[in-house]
Amino acid sequence: MNAPDPVDIIEAAAPAARRSRQARVAWGDHVVTVGGDAPVRVQSMTNTDTVDVIGTAIQVKELAVAGSELVRITVNTPEAAEAVPHIREQLDRMGINVPLVGDFHYNGHRLLTDFPAMAKALSKYRINPGNVGKGDKRDRQFGQMIEAAVKHDKVVRIGVNWGSLDQELLAHLMDENARRARPLDAKQVMYQALVQSALSSAEVAREMGLNPDHIIISCKVSGVQDLISVYRALARRCDYALHLGLTEAGMGTKGTVASATALGVLLQEGIGDTIRVSLTPQPGEARTQEVVVALEILQSLGLRAFNPSVTACPGCGRTTSTTFQELAKQIDDFLRAQMPVWKAKYPGVENLKVAVMGCIVNGPGESKHADIGISLPGTGEAPAAPVFIDGEKALTLRGEGIANEFQKIVESYIERRFGTAAVRA
Ligand code: SF4
Repeated sequence: MNAPDPVDIIEAAAPAARRSRQARVAWGDHVVTVGGDAPVRVQSMTNTDTVDVIGTAIQVKELAVAGSELVRITVNTPEAAEAVPHIREQLDRMGINVPLVGDFHYNGHRLLTDFPAMAKALSKYRINPGNVGKGDKRDRQFGQMIEAAVKHDKVVRIGVNWGSLDQELLAHLMDENARRARPLDAKQVMYQALVQSALSSAEVAREMGLNPDHIIISCKVSGVQDLISVYRALARRCDYALHLGLTEAGMGTKGTVASATALGVLLQEGIGDTIRVSLTPQPGEARTQEVVVALEILQSLGLRAFNPSVTACPGCGRTTSTTFQELAKQIDDFLRAQMPVWKAKYPGVENLKVAVMGCIVNGPGESKHADIGISLPGTGEAPAAPVFIDGEKALTLRGEGIANEFQKIVESYIERRFGTAAVRA
């Protein structure tokens, strides 16, 4: 028998470096850098009526507390524009300094001109070039919004959407394509239209005096492969910071998986400086779910750490009780619930790795790889659960109170490793 080939050196996978310009989105002294060497940022959007000042401020707070670093609100009517400075004041009173992004369509030029207090209270304007007007009005109205951004020193996201693409541009590109000796596929023309709409609008904004570091681009589509194609093209053709999101991702598992798949591929290639997960909330589901998913995408790729991670096995025929599922959930819920306080109290705790495993097959091994792990007894195993701390077996738990005892062990480990005493040592 031939000797096996020597094993190649296997490089550790890591997201490629990003090469975009850096924008600074600020409210007062609080600056959120986007692009360049800044961490990939998480954004979200409210679904309250902006006229409802208190309701909107509360939802912005919830999204910010969940981890959203920028929150977008709809500014669609004069009443909504009037409400914006009051929402900002309410947030300031609540100690929430998250920058607000105004979402403008159709009448943004009038609102940004007629309501200067609103234009000041926002930290960034989202402008959709497909929805700023038609014909010669389009340039004038787009120009008015850029003027407001220059005057108030605000960052602009030029956000093109598949569903509201500039139809005149698309028709022009389709005509041009029809005259080619070998016409492109209609989808490819659509990709071109999206990218061209965003980049030519950015060019116009620069000609009007908007600093290129104040420009962020997005081209959102609802298909995973379409999004990947469009953003690869964008990243090749410009160095603006890019906002990523699969628009109209849908509900629940479908929306979560589609968003994670599309964003995961692009982020791994070093494409994308901010992300939003556009989930449709399921009835009764909190709006913050879109933030939870966005954080998980970044944490899963190793781009950022927000919460301690809990590794749990899927379970199989070797474990017929639900004990380990319950314990994994209890620990995960407990760690997440504590994080708002722990973030300040235990710096670095977000990097903690906990394992909760179902039986002896992978339990001890996986537990040893975690900072702290427990291997529960599978069917037919002795009713004992060894606990591993920093790779060593530390003790064995038995009896009814395993879950609570393990939780206490995790807490005291965190205090020991991340508490003030540990920092001083
Ligand atoms: S660790 Fe044990 S219970 Fe969990 S999946 Fe593996 S074999 Fe099954």
